[in-house]
Amino acid sequence: MIKREGFWFCFDDKLCKTCKAKCCIGEGYVFLTDDDIKGLSAFLGVSKDEFLDKYTRRVFGKIALIDLVIKNQKRCVFLDDDYRCEVYPQRPSQCRNFPFWERLKSFSIDELKTLCPAIKPCK
Ligand code: SF4
Repeated sequence: MIKREGFWFCFDDKLCKTCKAKCCIGEGYVFLTDDDIKGLSAFLGVSKDEFLDKYTRRVFGKIALIDLVIKNQKRCVFLDDDYRCEVYPQRPSQCRNFPFWERLKSFSIDELKTLCPAIKPCK
């Protein structure tokens, strides 16, 4: 069970493989920091410009990963057919920190469960 200082909920990483990557599918954006862009470009072996061209777009003035629509399902460009992250060792900080996001602190447990079944109240 993963806990983080200041959060009332915990993350049961044993359940992570059971949900087919809910956190990487559907509405929402994966915003990238400069370090994310640098790390992902190096991981994929492409230049920063090539990475930005091929995998990102601007949303609300920020840089975000693009989505693919497969069988009417919007999913992250890096989610493979087996629901695994193709860039997992270098995944963006937003993904690395999920579900410990400030804005999720005010969600109820039922709302959090719709995002991720591995979130539980801490004991
Ligand atoms: S980068 Fe990886 S962990 Fe992040 S949303 Fe995409 S597939 Fe999921």
